[in-house]
Amino acid sequence: MISSLISRASIIVALPLVLLACSTDPYAAKPLTAEELNLIRNGEGLMRVTTIDNEADSLLLRSKSTFFIDEDLRSEEYAILAGRMVATVTDPSQDGVGIAGPQVGILRRVVAVQRFDKEGEPFEVYPNVHIEPVGDERQIGSEGCLSVPDMRGEVERYSKIRLMYTDPVSLEPVEELVEGFTAVIFQHECDHLDGILYIDRILE
Ligand code: ZN
Repeated sequence: MISSLISRASIIVALPLVLLACSTDPYAAKPLTAEELNLIRNGEGLMRVTTIDNEADSLLLRSKSTFFIDEDLRSEEYAILAGRMVATVTDPSQDGVGIAGPQVGILRRVVAVQRFDKEGEPFEVYPNVHIEPVGDERQIGSEGCLSVPDMRGEVERYSKIRLMYTDPVSLEPVEELVEGFTAVIFQHECDHLDGILYIDRILE
């Protein structure tokens, strides 16, 4: 009798905690909003890059990005977004090596990264991306950011990471190891998805 009372009590305590955790997960997948769809569909080619010297942009750049639902990854809008992100970062006006969703006003876990570790150094787009460090080795390098105009700084990053994302065609999870400068770019871009800017990490 006592044990059943205890277990019932623990269920009653645990249930609201589980519900609370689900409803407040800032990364939880949700459908693209009407506002996001408009931003993706309206205009062609380049997207406006958000910068910290604009107050509304600054708030957005400090927000966390959510995952895409599968249906949206299969949509025409996702393909348009991916294409426009690459067009934006590769445009001579920006000339970057990577760009993240919040930098084009879309709070979604998506980054476009130039793969210096692949032949031809192509730009590739990774939806529902997340990374984790592999090993303790780190390297220090100079970084800049399209969203932080006219500035550079030295930042320490892991030398090797595990890259995880969803293949937008098969919708299967993909995992690979990335090293060197390309791994640094992934760390910089994935920080954007957590509302972190490289200026937070500049070495004194
Ligand atoms: Zn950046």
